[in-house]
Amino acid sequence: RDQLGRHTWYFLHSVGVTYPEYPTPADEQAVRFLVAALGQLFPCKSCRRHLQRTLSTNVTLGPVPTASREELSRWLCQLHNIVNIKTGKAEFLC
Ligand SMILES: Cc1cc2nc3c(=O)[nH]c(=O)nc-3n(C[C@H](O)[C@H](O)[C@H](O)COP(=O)(O)OP(=O)(O)OC[C@H]3O[C@@H](n4cnc5c(N)ncnc54)[C@H](O)[C@@H]3O)c2cc1C
Repeated sequence: RDQLGRHTWYFLHSVGVTYPEYPTPADEQAVRFLVAALGQLFPCKSCRRHLQRTLSTNVTLGPVPTASREELSRWLCQLHNIVNIKTGKAEFLC
């Protein structure tokens, strides 16, 4: 789970920092699908459940913002922090 998590975060933060500054509708849809697919298919059942709960109920986090690289990167950092809090790890300054 730790290895999977580390690699997945690496991938997600990489997607965030390389996301277009001016995304097309197709880019925006792809990010929404990516986040939804994580909640559906992430290969750690308890993580997936926690993620689904977070995505559907965490009003502070809100839905994934797809309009800009900066907003998406910050949101991914905040999502990672929510998991950090759950696992007792230090939060990042997003
Ligand atoms: C979507 C998802 C859900 C998960 N859910 C759970 C769960 O419910 N329970 C569980 O035990 N584990 C979960 N994990 C795994 C967990 O988040 C860690 O990946 C794992 O515990 C390994 O932790 P780590 O200390 O190596 O660092 P990781 O949390 O994997 O982080 C890797 C590196 O990213 C950097 N980093 C840390 N926080 C941030 C941030 N906010 N923004 C940017 N960079 C940051 C740090 O340099 C860190 O060393 C989940 C992983 C993912 C991807």
